[in-house]
Amino acid sequence: MLISIAEARERVLDETPTLLPEGVPIEYALGRVLAEDVTAAEDLPPFDSSAMDGFAVIAGPAAELAVVGESRAGHPTDRPLEPGEAIRISTGAAIPPGADAVVPIERVEVQDGRVLVPVTEAGANVRHSGEDLRRGEAVIAAGTEIGPAEVAMLAALGKPAARVGGVPRVAVLVTGDELVAPGEPLAPGQIRNSNGYAIAALASRAGARVTSRGATIVRDDRAATEAALSEALDSADVVCVSGGVSVGPHDHVKPALAALGVEERFWGVRLKPGKPTWFGVRDGKLVFGLPGNPVSAMVTFHLFARPALRRLAGADPGDSRTTAIADVALPRAPERDQVIRCRLTLQGDGWHVEPTKAQGSHVLSSMLAAQAFALVDAGEGEIGAGERVGIELLG
Ligand code: AMP
Ligand code: MG
Repeated sequence: MLISIAEARERVLDETPTLLPEGVPIEYALGRVLAEDVTAAEDLPPFDSSAMDGFAVIAGPAAELAVVGESRAGHPTDRPLEPGEAIRISTGAAIPPGADAVVPIERVEVQDGRVLVPVTEAGANVRHSGEDLRRGEAVIAAGTEIGPAEVAMLAALGKPAARVGGVPRVAVLVTGDELVAPGEPLAPGQIRNSNGYAIAALASRAGARVTSRGATIVRDDRAATEAALSEALDSADVVCVSGGVSVGPHDHVKPALAALGVEERFWGVRLKPGKPTWFGVRDGKLVFGLPGNPVSAMVTFHLFARPALRRLAGADPGDSRTTAIADVALPRAPERDQVIRCRLTLQGDGWHVEPTKAQGSHVLSSMLAAQAFALVDAGEGEIGAGERVGIELLG
């Protein structure tokens, strides 16, 4: 029985644990998922400071003031400012005690140790301590993917390391007697192994560490298939195997997995392309049997394996669903939901989608420049040009 995309995703996530978090120095935290709520341990900025190079003053009318000292970045002065005085100050330097405003250098005249300043409002050009964040304030929530801004914030708040989710290990295997590595000559009847590279790249993008290389080709042989899968199960949290999951006499993946004690959770999704997708589990490890057709392998990885990798890493596996206007009619398929590879364009009335090109499951070039999958539900007729269609954004 074929199940829906949503049902398949749910069955995958039902079986997907979250890996144990670990501490990492923030310089290695990019792309990881925060496993702790980060609160500000100190005020940011930590002290009142000057936003300009100029003179720290007591706010008031225009005046001629005596220059009595200097506060430089990293070298504060503890000389309190008295009425009639100014202290030379640089950007980022601490506001001296008693001062409450800074007059920029461009707006003063300096002569013989004295400075002429215009009328000044209290607080002018002062960055107040805690203006960015207050001590104790919640800053970044657990589950957030760490990007450059998060790395910067962790550093600014004085955290040299962060607790982050684990990195899922993914083993990628491809099956097929016809497969040849890029760089090798093609004999009659042979094709290049592209899935190994596609799946490894998708897994890396999803934040995983690929334990096998793209070239792990398994021949259509029952013993070889079982041996390769057994090794993959020992070395990875997730095994992705492409091809060989149908019912042909040379499809050995399912019986090999059964012999290894991997329990099937589904086989067959009401999806085009990607119908023969298989999913099973063994002791908390996940196995995805992805279809061999190159587009099907990429589409089904995105729909089913990617959310699992995000959950393993501690992130919200949620999809990036929205809608867009179809620029051309998208015919429905009577029995299967379709995933159409599309280009996205922003027009006056919002986002539009248009198929990249012909959509056969073997047309790998339809994945080039694809920024979104349009999801066309099964049924009669079509989604007309100008109508809205559900889309999933590709990362
Ligand atoms: P299968 O699921 O093994 O029947 O394969 C379905 C189709 O995908 C066949 O045309 C295969 O030649 C092709 N195919 C299988 N594995 C790969 C691969 N690693 N790279 C590119 N095409 C593949
Ligand atoms: Mg095959």
